[in-house]
Amino acid sequence: MEFDIDIGRIIKTVNKTECKRVGLQFPEGLKRQAVGIACKIEEKTGAEVLISGNPCFGACDIDTALAANVDVLFHFAHSQMGKHENVVFIEARSNVDVIPAVRAALELLTEDRIGVITTVQHVHKFEEVCGFLRENGKECIVAKGDLRVSYPGQVLGCNFTAARVDCAEILYVGSGMFHPLGVAIATGKRVIAADPYLKTAVEVNPERFQRIRGGYIARSMGAQIFGIIVSSKSGQNRMELARKLRDIALKHGKEAHILMMDLVTPDQLLQFKADAYVNTACPRITIDDAERFHAPVLTPQEFEVAVGEREWDKIEMDEIVEDAGE
Ligand code: SF4
Repeated sequence: MEFDIDIGRIIKTVNKTECKRVGLQFPEGLKRQAVGIACKIEEKTGAEVLISGNPCFGACDIDTALAANVDVLFHFAHSQMGKHENVVFIEARSNVDVIPAVRAALELLTEDRIGVITTVQHVHKFEEVCGFLRENGKECIVAKGDLRVSYPGQVLGCNFTAARVDCAEILYVGSGMFHPLGVAIATGKRVIAADPYLKTAVEVNPERFQRIRGGYIARSMGAQIFGIIVSSKSGQNRMELARKLRDIALKHGKEAHILMMDLVTPDQLLQFKADAYVNTACPRITIDDAERFHAPVLTPQEFEVAVGEREWDKIEMDEIVEDAGE
């Protein structure tokens, strides 16, 4: 994937603020560019550059230890989330042409009013996408999400608030099926996913996914000991929810223990002898790594079904939302 990164902005910021020590944090897909970018910054500014070697999956995941050791930390690829004293978010924008995929989607769209959503990599293409849809007789709706997202129409793997629009059909422009699947389940709307890299479009069918998740819930129904995972990453930390879930477990005669951890991996959980886990950290972990865990790992909503607190037909997608009041 090709991304445009605004290195000029970084150099300008460092020179203007006369920073002596600069931190760089990249998500996994951009780490191979780290050394080249560090060299350019050192050459043009004379500042010392420190690169984060830790895994990074989102804007929720700031390397706070590195931030504490530098004058400014540049966090790459993601849009701003939360307030940080010395962190600058350098978004990555894809230069792939989105229109071939949107053209393919046009044949699958059946409604006149279309809600359009995407990830931060393609938000600069909204005008183009909506212009194309309008030329083809569609009304385009790009809605504002909550405070966790930076742009109207932007969705995250943990936040579909921009997809809660007043229309029956949604067009997702972006790669992968996680976001459109999440939107289809979270909103109950018909979702068409247009992948600009593959130049194809498909209608999202959440049924198989829901069946698989149902299997994990069923396997957890007999569980007696639950581990409730809480992330120590500030943008993923849902301790209050974890405590609420522990109370629910106790109410239903179960044992529950809160496990606080930074990185949630199958290896990290292996030594705990819980029968099942509930994940309050990044919701993607529950889904993306499901098959690799030795015991079922549920979303908070799935856990509630497993212990009898919630009806099966009331399952929702797990989201992390940030209202103005929070
Ligand atoms: S919580 Fe997960 S899905 Fe949400 S921003 Fe962080 S890494 Fe992405």
